[in-house]
Amino acid sequence: MTCNRWHKVDARCMPGTGVRVHCQWQRPQCRAFPSTADPMQQDMAQTPKIRDVLAAASRSLGARNDAEYLLMHVLEVDREWLFAHALETLDPASATRYAAMVARRAEGVPVAYLTGRRGFWSLDLTVTPATLVPRPETELLVELALERLAPDTPLEVADLGTGSGAIALALAHERPHARVLATDRSVEALAVAQANARRLRIGNVRFVSGDWFAPLGRRRFDVIVSNPPYVAEGDPHLARGDPRHEPRQALVAGADGLDAVRVLAVQAGEYLADGGWLLVEHGYDQGAPVRELLHKAGFVDVFTARDLEARERVSGGCKGVK
Ligand code: GLN
Repeated sequence: MTCNRWHKVDARCMPGTGVRVHCQWQRPQCRAFPSTADPMQQDMAQTPKIRDVLAAASRSLGARNDAEYLLMHVLEVDREWLFAHALETLDPASATRYAAMVARRAEGVPVAYLTGRRGFWSLDLTVTPATLVPRPETELLVELALERLAPDTPLEVADLGTGSGAIALALAHERPHARVLATDRSVEALAVAQANARRLRIGNVRFVSGDWFAPLGRRRFDVIVSNPPYVAEGDPHLARGDPRHEPRQALVAGADGLDAVRVLAVQAGEYLADGGWLLVEHGYDQGAPVRELLHKAGFVDVFTARDLEARERVSGGCKGVK
């Protein structure tokens, strides 16, 4: 059996020593540093050093982080390894793969789609172009939900429009006694979310496909969370950066971007337990209209929280006891 992974750091694997590294699955050679005595080394001499490859990629992407992250992915190493081996050469196969990834990144394909992975909360999630790439600002929604979910209590939680499952899985992981229902209209997205749950061995989430509240049945929830689409049609933001490659239905919600939030605000009351909370993410300039929607729908204790960039990002309201 050939090992797909290779050693992160191996003291024996030094440039020019000709030492071939064998891992426990008998990987036949050290890919990064063939011997200088090796005839292949003639070609290798032509290949640039890791440091130079990184510098060139950083220049073409205008982002050192992305360049490093993609190379870490190709080589299956961590950042320390890249620095420790900066003066060594890259093997041609990895160099070719890396160049292809950098070219796609330069076209705007999100790093997470290129690597198939994205860290969110404490979880390492698989993401595909069927799902939105989880954003750090969405971790605020997780924090606000956790503040409302007592530990060790069998509370009912719903995550509507779960995408890769990021929010649902983070909550389920932090609150193993909670029962989390995650929904999405896209069955492709749900398959990704389900695979994440399996891989991360998070068992207290159930996934059901359907529009917003349709899959919820007659259950009542203590917390309903959502990162719905909230970008306005025609927003110039959609023509730049990552959103160009992300599913439109996960981003765009009508002329003012609030179509989905309106549905959530109007209908959530029917599915919340008394004293339960609706928490929704929104655009940085949508705090006031979202609070108004929540007030109009009868929520009390309506609030907006700001993300790490101090922008209004998540609003919520409590279903008051009648
Ligand atoms: N935060 C995303 C963006 O700015 C939008 C996510 C969403 O619509 N839910 O592209």
